[in-house]
Amino acid sequence: MRLFYRGPHFDHGVHPPELKELTSHLPIRRMPYPDEVVLPLRQHAGAPAKLAVNKGDRVIRGDTIATASGFVSAPVHASASGTVVDIGLWPHPDGTMSDAVRIEVDRYSPQVTRPRMVPHWEGLTPKEIVAAVQNAGVVGLGGAAFPTHVKLAPPPDVSVETIILNGAECEPYLTTDHRIMVEYPGRVQLGARIMLHTLGAKRVVIGVERNKPDAIEALRATLPTDIDVSVLPLTVKYPQGAEKMLIHAVTGREVPSGKLPVSLGVLVQNVGSAASIGEVFETGLPLLERIVTVSGPGVKHPANLIVPVGTKVGDLLDMCGGVTDDAAEIVFGGPMMGVAQGNLDAPIIKGTTGVIVLTFAQVPDARSYPCIHCGRCLDACPMMLNPSLLGDLARTGRYGEMEAEHLADCMLCGSCTYVCPSNIPLAQLFQASKSALKRVKAGAA
Ligand code: SF4
Ligand code: SF4
Repeated sequence: MRLFYRGPHFDHGVHPPELKELTSHLPIRRMPYPDEVVLPLRQHAGAPAKLAVNKGDRVIRGDTIATASGFVSAPVHASASGTVVDIGLWPHPDGTMSDAVRIEVDRYSPQVTRPRMVPHWEGLTPKEIVAAVQNAGVVGLGGAAFPTHVKLAPPPDVSVETIILNGAECEPYLTTDHRIMVEYPGRVQLGARIMLHTLGAKRVVIGVERNKPDAIEALRATLPTDIDVSVLPLTVKYPQGAEKMLIHAVTGREVPSGKLPVSLGVLVQNVGSAASIGEVFETGLPLLERIVTVSGPGVKHPANLIVPVGTKVGDLLDMCGGVTDDAAEIVFGGPMMGVAQGNLDAPIIKGTTGVIVLTFAQVPDARSYPCIHCGRCLDACPMMLNPSLLGDLARTGRYGEMEAEHLADCMLCGSCTYVCPSNIPLAQLFQASKSALKRVKAGAA
């Protein structure tokens, strides 16, 4: 007998405060349409979408405003009916400027879409399902925004046996996936069923951290009996939701360095993406809105909201009563891997899992100190890297040596930064180093 069994887990990692109680019990509500939505053409990994409207065009909710510009790309749809008032550069949540379509929302519109066919997935071939998912603009909703249809079409020489649905949601504050599993378990199951059919896979395992017992219960209560789908409660530890950690927890196997999960016959999708696939085949609607956790002590009324894609973060925060007097920083995503925002006009995009408002007391001191070689970052790193050494190399621009120290395996989880007593922004240094390496290689090609 194993006493104190915590469920499958991985070595190292950290235990930041979960802080989910602000929103984990709050049912998802729909936010009213804002006066304007701004839709960047770059909302997913891969090639940006290709503009398909002109300034002055009237658009109906659901219309395609930008088409996929290749296979690893996804279209963008009007999330509200209105008039295209501008096309041009706009602040992007990643801190850059990006081409975007601004739509002034028609406040008298009933916001219904044009009549559309609801595809019966059972009668479709895998290729047709992949095309339908791409046409609907579905991308990974867990944050990375990789086009979902690409994962459903692996190369012909590989086969997927196990689909893992990622319901770990290990970042503090975020409860988007939690509420999806509690409120839409049927949609998650439908998405799982469609993925099994498309990939010819054998089983689906839904991995959920143990701190979401109501989600585990809701999923188990709706488990289909005619296909192999199960729910696996996971240890509560950060970053349990990272793809490689999750695969290790579920299968006991490690994805080799430089390889993709499919090399083990495994595919990972976020539970929100599974629900989104289910929704496409339930309603025929493309991805027009997403569920966003708005939380943190700096927001007056935390909530889980259905938000039209393109809603400006300022409008979303107004909807939540605004921010408190001691609000200091707005972060898109969770506090471990999220991106601090410098502009209230930055829009919610398909990959925005949450908007977290931190107070002055929470924002880390920007000063950092020399490394004291305490080794805490080595104990925290789930990829068994040496963040202290990588940090030294990053500060002196020795990117080639960083590569030899397996920089590529760093998933920027921020565990090392979290534990560093010298307050060294290690993950930020690694992110900048990865970009620098990419530029160097592109220049050399
Ligand atoms: S945790 Fe910070 S101070 Fe300690 S070894 Fe790592 S980088 Fe150096
Ligand atoms: S950010 Fe990279 S180096 Fe730091 S703990 Fe995560 S994987 Fe390891």
